[in-house]
Parts: sequence; structure tokens; C-alpha cells
Amino acid sequence: MATDKMYERTEDGVTTHVSIREAMAEVNHAMMDGKRDVREMSSGRDRHWIDYKDGRSVRLTLVDAPAETAAEDVKEWSGTASNGTHVHRFDAELKALCNRRIRSRGAGRVSGALVGHGNLRSRREIESSEYAYLYTFCSKCEDK
Ligand SMILES: [Zn+2]
Repeated sequence: MATDKMYERTEDGVTTHVSIREAMAEVNHAMMDGKRDVREMSSGRDRHWIDYKDGRSVRLTLVDAPAETAAEDVKEWSGTASNGTHVHRFDAELKALCNRRIRSRGAGRVSGALVGHGNLRSRREIESSEYAYLYTFCSKCEDK
């Protein structure tokens, strides 16, 4: 999977991330319609800077988009040994958020080390599987 690209936009020391489309819109505007507001600019393949006549200085640099993990992509859901399809959210100790006595399916200790994290799945994984209809999400865990 290709890494998403975006622009880091720095204006007077304040850096934000903008989409390539937004960055190109600003560069194109500075070169065309907004030209009279520009004191000086430089545009390269993945780096642009624009100094505006009003004193603003904008730097745009193409960067890899930060890897963001959406909440539904965090692997923390699992059923239990007795009920594999009613899924709870588990913490790092594989204890359910709604009730610390509930342990995830497959959780156990091997030579003192906690195992079973591999059974945890993200909400998106469960909802996009062909067996999604079998699963119910614990509402107490959802609210945590
Ligand atoms: Zn729960």
C-alpha cells in the first residue's frame, strides 16, 4: 500500500497539515489570480514557498501523511472463552473494560507471561468480516 502524502504547511512558525489539493490550490492561486499579493515565491517538485506582500510567509513541504490509527482500527475487541461472539474491549492485561473479571478468549499465562493478545481484533475487522452478523459489541465496553 502506498504511503499517503500530504503537505506540511508552515506559516509564520505555525505548522499544520493540509492535503495536496489544498496546497496546490494555494500555490496555483499565488501564481495566477493572487499573483499581485505575492512578493516572492518559489515552487519546486515537493517544496514551495510563498512570501506575501502583507508579510505572511508560507512554506509547503511534501511529507508522508502521519500514520493515524482510527479508533475502530485499534485491536482490542474479543469474545470470551464461554461466549466467543459477544465481544468486549480488553486492556493490555486482557481484562474487559466493563468488568475486570472478564478475560478475553485465549488469555492465559505461559511461564508467567500473559499471552492471547493475538485474539484481539479491531472493531473494523470484526464488522467487515463475513461473520459480522454473529457478533454483538458489549455496550458497556463501547461507552468506556
Ligand atoms: Zn464489556
